[in-house]
Amino acid sequence: MATPIGNLGDVTARAKAILAAADLIACEDKRVTGKLLRHLGIKRPLTSYHDHSDARVRDDLIARAGREVVALVSDAGTPMISDPGFKLVRAARAAGVSVVTVPGPSAAIAALTLAGLPTDRFLFAGFLPNKSKARRDVASELAGVRATLIFYDTGPRIGASLADLAEVLGPREAAVARELTKLHEECVTGTLAELAARYADAPPKGEIVLVVAPPLDAAPVALDDAAIDAALRALLVEMPPSKAARDLARRHGLDRDRVYARAVAIKDER
Ligand code: SAM
Repeated sequence: MATPIGNLGDVTARAKAILAAADLIACEDKRVTGKLLRHLGIKRPLTSYHDHSDARVRDDLIARAGREVVALVSDAGTPMISDPGFKLVRAARAAGVSVVTVPGPSAAIAALTLAGLPTDRFLFAGFLPNKSKARRDVASELAGVRATLIFYDTGPRIGASLADLAEVLGPREAAVARELTKLHEECVTGTLAELAARYADAPPKGEIVLVVAPPLDAAPVALDDAAIDAALRALLVEMPPSKAARDLARRHGLDRDRVYARAVAIKDER
């Protein structure tokens, strides 16, 4: 079930009722969830759960969920959205245990509603990798996606992330949404390059979601050789070189034969 992402007033009436009725609450960090429960005046048993927890922990939770009310929360927001829970829900469903959802706050959706960027199609891409090369590979993979992109990020890294995205995705509008629902909530907008310059030497404090506009139809994103190779490596996991080359060439206005030759060379490397 979802819990607030900063403002404790955002807990839903249903989340409160189910937490109060739960026989057991599985959470990431007992101290964090304990604080929420104290705020709500609820006292229920807590147990730690992560997707990398031992399979026996998961099996015990599922056995209990078959006969009792077991609630799953993460530290903040919606479980499973860059948080634990997926393996537990999958295993519970496989075991025939009833699973219900208690929706509520999630930073990704909150940021999308604040950014002023298209909302008709969006792709949530979780956290960007730590290393610049890996970040640029992810950006290349997403460059042709005709949807608003949503990333989770951190203050110390946001300047470098923006610079990498600006380099690979080109002149797109973006928004840095920070400390959502909290006292210092803000949403700063600009092009990726403008935002990269703003945060280069001034890392912002607090929690951050980065929202990036879809590609402009009129201007296909220019990819350098490294970005073409990275995009091809990602596409070749799922499709043959001919299709990978055709898709990438069409999206970025590239010469199809040249991209196909790269795709074949990369395939042969494996
Ligand atoms: N499951 C959570 C959700 O539904 O939003 C996200 C958990 S993820 C481990 C934590 C990341 O979410 C933070 O690093 C930040 O990128 C984003 N985040 C969480 N709360 C936020 C807030 N109040 N303002 C901005 N970003 C937030």
